[in-house]
Amino acid sequence: MDPARLTAEFPAPSYRGTQQRALGKIGEALESDNDVVLVRAPTGSGKSLLARAIAGCARQPDEADPQDAIGAYYTTPQVSQLDDVAADPLLSDLQVIRGKRNYSCLLPGETDTPVDRAPCARESGFDCSIRHRCPYFSDRAIASNRSIAAMTLAYFMQTAGSESFGRRDVVVIDEAHGLAEWAEMYATIDLRPSTVPVWDEITVPEIDGPEAAARFADRLVDVCTRRKDTLVGAEELSIAEVTERDRLQELISNLKWFVSDYRDPASASTWVVDSAGEGSPVTIKPLAPERYLNHTVWERGNTFVLLSATILDKEGFCRGVGLDPAKTALVDISHTFPVENRPLYDVTQGKMTYEHRDDTIPEVARLLVRLLAKHDDEKGIVHAHSYAIAERLADRLREFGVDGRIRTHDSDDRDAQLSSWLATDDPELFVSVKMEEALDLAGDRARWQVLCKAPYPNTRDSRVARRLEDGQWGWYYRTALKTVIQACGRVVRSPDDFGRTYLADSSLLDLFGRSRGAMPDWFAAQVDRMSSPELPAFDPDAANAGSADSSGGSGGSNQSGRQTGRRSSRSNPDDHPLADVWGTD
Ligand code: SF4
Repeated sequence: MDPARLTAEFPAPSYRGTQQRALGKIGEALESDNDVVLVRAPTGSGKSLLARAIAGCARQPDEADPQDAIGAYYTTPQVSQLDDVAADPLLSDLQVIRGKRNYSCLLPGETDTPVDRAPCARESGFDCSIRHRCPYFSDRAIASNRSIAAMTLAYFMQTAGSESFGRRDVVVIDEAHGLAEWAEMYATIDLRPSTVPVWDEITVPEIDGPEAAARFADRLVDVCTRRKDTLVGAEELSIAEVTERDRLQELISNLKWFVSDYRDPASASTWVVDSAGEGSPVTIKPLAPERYLNHTVWERGNTFVLLSATILDKEGFCRGVGLDPAKTALVDISHTFPVENRPLYDVTQGKMTYEHRDDTIPEVARLLVRLLAKHDDEKGIVHAHSYAIAERLADRLREFGVDGRIRTHDSDDRDAQLSSWLATDDPELFVSVKMEEALDLAGDRARWQVLCKAPYPNTRDSRVARRLEDGQWGWYYRTALKTVIQACGRVVRSPDDFGRTYLADSSLLDLFGRSRGAMPDWFAAQVDRMSSPELPAFDPDAANAGSADSSGGSGGSNQSGRQTGRRSSRSNPDDHPLADVWGTD
């Protein structure tokens, strides 16, 4: 790549904030013989534009020998981020390609069929006469040939080893802070009746560790392969059989990968296995899936640039994803949003650990009533951390009679409730679970938020337990801090935006003390300015003052699923930024 082109490749007509200085720092790091540059870029630094400039420095065909890798990949784990890139006119030369199920077949009678279930996937030897016009295959051909191909991290990893998406000169990974976790998630093998089509044909033995799991995997591969070969040999498959065939192929490949990695003495991965005994589901999970990342990511490019606001610790990050810190640079970009526009408030009510929760949740619920009264005409969001906490808070709020201002969701209606909440102008409080990332709550979308619990990883997860057994407490605290910083960024999206963050769990203060050394300066400045606010007294009537019901209007009233017709919607409900952020395709 040629970092000297960075300025010329910057796609916007002028620079904002720290962009010009950021490009200079990134250029220096790339010139200094680093294979990987980590860019710690906070919200508002225009990461996508920086990413485009970096990708534009990739070697071009007229600069390359035939064996040289050329061009660039842009990839991100967040579907919503890829959507933003696709919609940005300044990034129009990033050719976006998505997974097959995002495209529909063109054949008559099949226009509602996703490409991965179309006749070409169902019928053996099907020769589609319009394949050259097929939206998926033509997008794939264009992305394969364009200088910058853009895709989700899931698709990028799935296409490792494919002819269309071979090695390129530069790979830019946006929102890269969770790379180790994403790789662990993709490489995890979940074996249960709903995921193993041949479950009824196998006997699951007692599995007490990875060696027993590897032996079981060998047997399972044989059974799956027999069934898959039967399906592959059939003339025509039903849609259900196509699904089964694809699932079997994926399962066989994942199981073989596990067995070969586990039996490779040179592999750095540690595998942990969860099983409740004979006949029970089995989950096989990798820790530090270095070899998996080598195959799916690190072997796909010459130079890598990883961007995120929350790559907190270079050494720890490198260890988690199998990079050499000596060949990796960390570039820090300062925050351009005034610290006074993103205040933190200490409103702690006690600990939310499991043993203290019974005492703390009622206090947090009372706190929410006081905050509703303070913000009687502003929307807010509660980060409840888990559905169990969300339900208990919602129950209390219902008992207090303030449910007219509360919206909740469960795992099934998560996207629909979020869409409705984003669309309403009513000053609702959204009690959310796992929405600390990839949610853009600019301006009046939310002016305040509450963090109910220090988001430590679940110690009952075998991967977490294993890491703590190995003494990785730094990782444990940094993981929680990363989520807190991500959450704090939801309600302040531009230099003139303003949003308050209230901290309800006293463990958050302890977390700040333990992880101070890993904080970016701009977040430490937020913590240093933290104060305790004056709040109104507990008064459900005052909290209800902002309710759509309180003025006697028609329309929305009930918690979860309330109708929101009283005030006009300001945005398209489908156009929300978390639509499928946890999707894998
Ligand atoms: S290749 Fe042809 S059959 Fe397959 S999805 Fe595309 S249009 Fe449909």
